[in-house]
Amino acid sequence: MENRAFLQSLFSKYYRENPNAIQEPSRIESREFGFLLFQGKVMIRHRRFETVEELRDFMARVGPSDAYRSAAYYQRPDASMDEKGWLGADLAFDIDADHLETACQKEHDSWRCLECGYVGRGKAPERCPNCGKSKFKESTWPCDVCLSTAKDELIKLIEMLEDDFGFSADKMHIYFSGHRGYHLILEDEEIRSLGQEERREIVDYVMAVGLVPELHGFAKESTKIPSFDSPGWRGRIARGVYEVMHLATTPNGRKELKAAGVRGKTLTTLTEQGENIINMLENGKILKLPKGVGEKTWKKLLLRGAKRRAVEVDPVVTIDVHRLMRLEGSLHGKTGLRKVEIPLTRLEAFDPMEEAVAFDKGELKVKIVVDVPKFHIGQEELGPYRAGKTETLPLAAAVLLLCKGFAEVHRD
Ligand SMILES: [Zn+2]
Ligand SMILES: [Zn+2]
Repeated sequence: MENRAFLQSLFSKYYRENPNAIQEPSRIESREFGFLLFQGKVMIRHRRFETVEELRDFMARVGPSDAYRSAAYYQRPDASMDEKGWLGADLAFDIDADHLETACQKEHDSWRCLECGYVGRGKAPERCPNCGKSKFKESTWPCDVCLSTAKDELIKLIEMLEDDFGFSADKMHIYFSGHRGYHLILEDEEIRSLGQEERREIVDYVMAVGLVPELHGFAKESTKIPSFDSPGWRGRIARGVYEVMHLATTPNGRKELKAAGVRGKTLTTLTEQGENIINMLENGKILKLPKGVGEKTWKKLLLRGAKRRAVEVDPVVTIDVHRLMRLEGSLHGKTGLRKVEIPLTRLEAFDPMEEAVAFDKGELKVKIVVDVPKFHIGQEELGPYRAGKTETLPLAAAVLLLCKGFAEVHRD
């Protein structure tokens, strides 16, 4: 409780001293706002603000742990859902490391079964191996590797929206979410009226859901297959399966092939004769698979290739036309980092642990209560820290640990 009260007053002070940190959403008067409070973890929804000043005042006064605004536009944003009068919505995408596979997850993420207290590392399983229940408390970390994996996904998404859908980059707003991912919001008259089903189609396309390679030029008896630079999914599958085959012929190849669903003898055939397929792909011609590699296997490889080129977005965020998105410029209650907009030209070099830092001055003494991995914030390399120790940390790092529940405010 003491931690929450401390963070609430810190967040509130931040908004008081930095009112311009909050970016004004377009057509603010048509948006719904929502807030999560530190006290009691209460969610306030259906709020409306006429001006950004009103919103900034509210943030400074209340100091919410998290602030959200709708991607949708409404006639009456403060009315109940049925009465709001939906006018349309921007197209929003959420890429979160929680949905991605990274090798480091096992090192820095953990979960605890809320039923029996069983603890495991990495991503929480479907069901607790001890009691079979499926309610967990998960603890994740905004690690550099996970964040850069999420950024790679974002780059794929931007390319796809530009090349395949023809959306122009200057209508895309990209943001670091403040925790473990990135948001992309497309504001364009043309997409505003799209319904759930149309948005689902877009999601399926970018995620390669239901993709049939045969319909993209990889038919059963082709003598010619699409080249790497073919537009859309044709080229993407070609490049993807090429990548898969390259991986298959490395010492770690079996792992990649297993992930593709290849088993038994075929697996060995492919690691040994993968070069043949690689040559075939390079020539983009005459499909003659090595002996022992059937059509089913070939399809598995194509789908694995497609999967590598697909973008892992959170489908619900894009499909739900009433979705609330984190407010631009606000602090994230799990990190104390800001959600910040990134100019497209700066994306490659963008370092969230440096550029999204809000509390860049001062220090704070905290008691570590959960082991903390190594991390960097601003220019400083920090950690690892052991539970039970007391540490004096740069304020941004201390706030991160408090928000995460990895530390407590120190009392003498
Ligand atoms: Zn359990
Ligand atoms: Zn990681």
